Amino acid sequence: RRFILNILESIKLSAEYLERKEIDSPRLNAELLLAAILNCERLELYLKFDRPLKEYEINKYRDSIARRGKNEPLQYIIGKVEFYGFEFKVTADVLIPRPETEILVEETANYCMSKTNIRVLDIGTGSGNIAIVLAKKYEVAGITSIDISENAIAIAKENALLNGLDSNIEFVKADSNIFTPERKFDVIVSNPPYVSINEYNSLQNEIKYYEPSIAVTDSGVGFTFYRTIAGRAGLLLNSGGRIFFEVGKNQSGIVEEILKENNFHTISIVKDYQQINRVITGVFL
Ligand code: GLN
Repeated sequence: RRFILNILESIKLSAEYLERKEIDSPRLNAELLLAAILNCERLELYLKFDRPLKEYEINKYRDSIARRGKNEPLQYIIGKVEFYGFEFKVTADVLIPRPETEILVEETANYCMSKTNIRVLDIGTGSGNIAIVLAKKYEVAGITSIDISENAIAIAKENALLNGLDSNIEFVKADSNIFTPERKFDVIVSNPPYVSINEYNSLQNEIKYYEPSIAVTDSGVGFTFYRTIAGRAGLLLNSGGRIFFEVGKNQSGIVEEILKENNFHTISIVKDYQQINRVITGVFL
C-alpha cells in the first residue's frame, strides 16, 4: 500500500530534513517550496493542510527539498524571485537580485525622473532587474543593458517580455572593458561584481557553489569594475552625466576616490536599511 502524506505532514518532514542539513529557516523553506509546486501562496497551505499530496507532487517536492538540502538557493529551485514588486525568472546563469539593489534602482529612478529624455546604460544587467524596473515603473526612455554573459542576456530578454516590455530596452552582449557606444549616455547604473576573492572564499555555500562567480567577484580585491567603468566614462557618459554604483560594505571610501580620480564630482552616498553605505553617485566632468 502506498503511503499518503498530507500537506502538513510533508511540510513537517521536509522542515526536519532541512534542519538536519543546517539550512536557515527550514520550515519557511519547506513551505515556500511546496507552495511553488502547488501553485499557491504560502499561507494558503494552512487552509488545506490535511489535503493529501498526489504522487507526482510528492516526487517533485522530494526533488526540491533534496536540492535545497544541498544548499541550492530557493530562488533557483523555484525559478523566480520578486524584485521591486515585479517577478523575475532566475537561473544559475544570473545573480539572484538582492533587496539592497532596490535602493540603487530607486536613486537612479529619482534622478532620471527629474530630467527629460535621459538615456541610461545598465552595466552587468544579469536578470535585467534594474533596467526592467526603470522601464516599467518609471518609464525611463532609452535604456541599453549590457552583460558579458550571453546566457544572462537571454534571461534578461525573457524577463523584459514576462514583464510586458518588448522593445523598450536594448540588450547587448558586451564586455564593459571594450563596449563603446556610438552615442554616449546620460546615466550609468551598475551593480558590478564587487566581492574580493578572499571574501568570496568565505561566503556561504548558497552563493559560492550556485551563483555565477563572475557576477559576484572580480577575483581581485573588489574594485576592478569601479576602476574600469569610471576610467572609461569619457567613452560612455556625456559631460554632466551621472553614475550610480552599488558598493559593498566598506567600499564607498575607495570608490569615492576612484570616482574623483576619474573626473567625477558632487559625489554622494546613500545608506541601506542596515545603515551600510550602499549606493554612490557622482557627476562626470
Ligand atoms: N544587475 C543585476 C543585479 O543588480 C546583476 C548584477 C551582477 O550580476 N553583478 O542584481
